[in-house]
Amino acid sequence: MSVVTRFAPSPTGFLHIGGARTALYNWLYARHMGGKYLVRIEDTDRARSTPEAVQAIFDGLDWLGLLGDEEPVYQSARLERHAEVAHELVKMGRAYFCYCTPEELAAMREEAKAAGKPMRYNGMWRDRDPSEAPAGVDPVVRLKAPLEGSTMLVDHVQGEVTVQNQQLDDFILLRGDGTPTYMLSVVVDDHDMGITHVLRGDDHLNNAFRQAALYRAMDWDVPEFGHIPLIHGPDGSKLSKRHGALGVDAYRDMGYLPEALNNYLLRLGWGHGDNEIISSAQAIEWFTLEAVGRSPSRFDLAKLENLNGHYIREADDARLTDLVVDGLGDISEVGRSRILKGMNGLKQRAKTIVELTENSAFYAASVPLPFTEKANGLLTEETIEHLKTLTQRLEALPDWSEEAIENAVREVAEEADLKLGKLAQPLRAALTGSTVSPGIFEVAAVLERAETLARLKAVCGTAQ
Ligand code: GLU
Repeated sequence: MSVVTRFAPSPTGFLHIGGARTALYNWLYARHMGGKYLVRIEDTDRARSTPEAVQAIFDGLDWLGLLGDEEPVYQSARLERHAEVAHELVKMGRAYFCYCTPEELAAMREEAKAAGKPMRYNGMWRDRDPSEAPAGVDPVVRLKAPLEGSTMLVDHVQGEVTVQNQQLDDFILLRGDGTPTYMLSVVVDDHDMGITHVLRGDDHLNNAFRQAALYRAMDWDVPEFGHIPLIHGPDGSKLSKRHGALGVDAYRDMGYLPEALNNYLLRLGWGHGDNEIISSAQAIEWFTLEAVGRSPSRFDLAKLENLNGHYIREADDARLTDLVVDGLGDISEVGRSRILKGMNGLKQRAKTIVELTENSAFYAASVPLPFTEKANGLLTEETIEHLKTLTQRLEALPDWSEEAIENAVREVAEEADLKLGKLAQPLRAALTGSTVSPGIFEVAAVLERAETLARLKAVCGTAQ
């Protein structure tokens, strides 16, 4: 049997990180098994499922590389098919029209409440002849669910889970207005899409029993299930916005790389020994459902930052330059090419693309540079005198290499009886406007001679 998984989000306006993790696990499991991964948009709630909300899901999936292997399926386009299945079940005698009035349902609810039990439909139309139907009631269609015994599911994550069938009442398949319920739509879609493995949040575990009853009523194969524990905040409570329960777009805006977020989400609820940094190829090779943890995982932004730092260091310089240039907005070609040349040095320190962008800005700036307060503090009368000497030395250098620049700085420092740092730091301030930057000889090499001298002269007051 070839594995087919799916990610079936209901559009809410963004792809939240819990959903992204579910998508990732479905994608990985399909890849691991050499199967197929599909996306279905559960857009039957027309009020919420605006085109923008649907697009936000696709944008998030696209960014993470988790779009489906085939064109997405829209649940809203399949309502007739769902209704057809309900009618088929009625014909087979496995579902029935229920003409309960709102008053009768209210009475059932009251009764359950008085007995301290959850509301269960009492089956009043289960075996009644529709000829007894009252006038003026649009019937719903209910499944004839099993009354006795129990339903056991072997969940790939939760293990064996059992429910007494008494607890599952004859739930509704079609509403009075003929529209299918969520329970029906999901089962029909999963069946028609050939889904073999349903991997989703464990908030859907209870639904799985009802869904299994529906599959059996249709004589369809019940798919395998894997219900993944939800993500909690660092304090163990349900993940909220305060903890980082944001859309993946928010993580992109905060400067995280998609591969870092994927690696983080993978580890959040799944493990392979002590491995923290796991490439996509390794993840595909190692991913099994049995290694998904059974308890809720805790979201930890510091871990995500560390991973992001790692992936930034690994990332291609041209790609990072594009991201940085996007963030900087309108910069010159020269600025861009300096950033590209200096990227290897720049990327060693940054934890996010936002930080990388801030740290790259000096390459694209033009004189006079903006100075941080600390940098300004380094540019005293005394240090400026040394920088003037250095400027002359650099002007006369026959060859503009990192090594030659370093030698010149060392010589000037030695001659003035200064520790290297006492000259290198003011030089850094002059060239970058800051007290932190990549190696300063590298910076000067990247800036090239003319710009280096222009920046020095601007500080020394000898600019022409
Ligand atoms: N549409 C449901 C949700 O977004 C998921 C349904 C399912 O995976 O079966 O929570």
